[in-house]
Amino acid sequence: MIGQQPSQQQPQDMRKMYKLKLVNELKKTGFIKSPRVAEVMFQVDRGEFWGSGQYDFNGNPQAGKDFINKDAYEDNPRPINFNVVISAPKLHSFVLDLLEDVLTPGARVLDVGSGTGILCACFYEMAKKEDGSANIVGIEHIEHLAQVSFQNLSKSYSKQLQDQSIKLVVGDGRLGFPEGAPFDAIHVGAGTPQ
Ligand code: SAH
Repeated sequence: MIGQQPSQQQPQDMRKMYKLKLVNELKKTGFIKSPRVAEVMFQVDRGEFWGSGQYDFNGNPQAGKDFINKDAYEDNPRPINFNVVISAPKLHSFVLDLLEDVLTPGARVLDVGSGTGILCACFYEMAKKEDGSANIVGIEHIEHLAQVSFQNLSKSYSKQLQDQSIKLVVGDGRLGFPEGAPFDAIHVGAGTPQ
């Protein structure tokens, strides 16, 4: 219709576009080799784990769940707090590719240094059973960060937190998590000076 404004792109369309661009980039650079990993990297929305509700699409500070920071969809590590970063997507996809063979339905997975919780979501997507249940444990030693990761995961994985398909534990990952052992895969994202 003459004079009609072009329809505004919805936040979910923008997210989809950013995610597709990121996944395609990671495929091109060789960090994603497997189609299954590509699917999971697309499905798990990094904007829910970093920068959510901070800026609108023009970079203006905003509040509210519909606003996302497009930097979340770039292949860079980003600071969160407590001198900690959310790792770059290339690292997440590298880990998923490496562990793909053991991340079968029902696999028991321990993520040491779970930070924002993003890899717990990725591991869940890789190792969930047909009925939607899984055995993913994230262990993080900074309590406040574990709480933030709970909030992050609650956006799309509240049911899984509730039924403990994804479990977040505050503790020292160096001690493992004997209550949940044995694990089929243990990923250590926590750095150590030694
Ligand atoms: N995969 C996470 C990585 C976060 S960085 C992400 O991309 O979000 C590493 C995390 O390890 C930090 O959150 C840090 O607090 C945590 N960490 C470091 N030493 C730890 C330890 N001994 N036990 C548990 N968590 C630890």
